[in-house]
Amino acid sequence: MLPGAVDVHTHTRVATDDEPDRFFQDSVAAAFGGTTTFLAFNNPGTGSSPAAERSLLVGLREWRAATARDSAIDYAVSLAISGRMNDPVGELPAMVDEGVSTAKAFMVFDFRIDDRRLFDALRVLGRRGGMLQVHCEDPVLIDTAVADALARGDTAPEFHAATRTTEAEAVATHRIMAFARAADVPVHVVHLSSAAALRHVREAKARGVRAHAETCPHYLALTDARYAASSIDEVAGCVISPPLRPVSDQDALWAGLADGSLDLIATDHVPDRMAVEKAAARRGVPFDRISNGAPGIETLLSIAYSEGVAKGLSVERLVDLVATTPARLFGLERKGAIELGRDADLVLFDPAARRTLRAGDFHHTSDYTPYEGFDVTGAVRSVFVRGRPVIRDGAFIGQRGFGRFVERGAAGG
Ligand SMILES: [Zn+2]
Repeated sequence: MLPGAVDVHTHTRVATDDEPDRFFQDSVAAAFGGTTTFLAFNNPGTGSSPAAERSLLVGLREWRAATARDSAIDYAVSLAISGRMNDPVGELPAMVDEGVSTAKAFMVFDFRIDDRRLFDALRVLGRRGGMLQVHCEDPVLIDTAVADALARGDTAPEFHAATRTTEAEAVATHRIMAFARAADVPVHVVHLSSAAALRHVREAKARGVRAHAETCPHYLALTDARYAASSIDEVAGCVISPPLRPVSDQDALWAGLADGSLDLIATDHVPDRMAVEKAAARRGVPFDRISNGAPGIETLLSIAYSEGVAKGLSVERLVDLVATTPARLFGLERKGAIELGRDADLVLFDPAARRTLRAGDFHHTSDYTPYEGFDVTGAVRSVFVRGRPVIRDGAFIGQRGFGRFVERGAAGG
């Protein structure tokens, strides 16, 4: 019996008239995977109104209304700060007061924020008991590399990875560590993928910075060998930012999970479909305009457990990485551990079971998995949320709307 996994990084999409079931369906998929609470982002450009694109608080209200009766498991939101918003930093204190103690900022993409506002957001949020999550990649290095590649005619999806170097990730990670140190506030690095970036987190921690970092199952289980695949779908399916890295980086991430310089594992689930978002690659759309991300909401526990045990991590450490620490750092006070005073979010897990992962067996809204054909050890049998069975003997017996929105306490540990 394990505490339910707490996935603090997902890009589940809210229901629309055309796709009324997608938020519900991904919440069910999470449950099948042994996740009992997930954090979603309200991503810019995925179904929100123009007013929500300009204001964090409008976005929060809209998002809560859109998800109010949809989830099968408990959930919360972390708001994405966009550079197109009028005054996102000014809205952060009120956001925390509404039970949303984290927000995410991007150094890259067209909704990035500049360094001045990044520093202000970090400071304002940290002083209010919140924590900023930061996507760390250097925009100058990446934009230049992308422009050069496109000018050379290197537009195929495999060139995505070549333009997003570990140096670009490392220099951005270093800068946010310096910001957090100067502001004396906690910070959380999302989806850390490389040894070069990890070194800066490790050094910052040693100097007393409240620096936290997550990595994702895809960096732990897959490598950049994927980008040499002959199938364009297989390559496009792994267009992720940061991209998959060589095995030397993967080894460094496992070492970081073992020694505590990495705090947790979260999925960065993006419900892209091969037949829709990723199909752009087949039509010859350049790599910089192919949707970034891959599905993973259903495979957090299976990949972490199966690969982690094989690397020699204890079950206790793995539970810490997928449940206890994410709950603690993200202010989910009643989640993440089997303990008096916490919710009875439980997973009955068969550690000896062996199975092969197949997209056809999954329940998520995507039509593929990057782990197709992966052999894993361990299987989720039954799942309980607040004591109620949601999955029993491998079948969904929960209810749409049973999941509650969780108002969170102070973040950052
Ligand atoms: Zn993400």
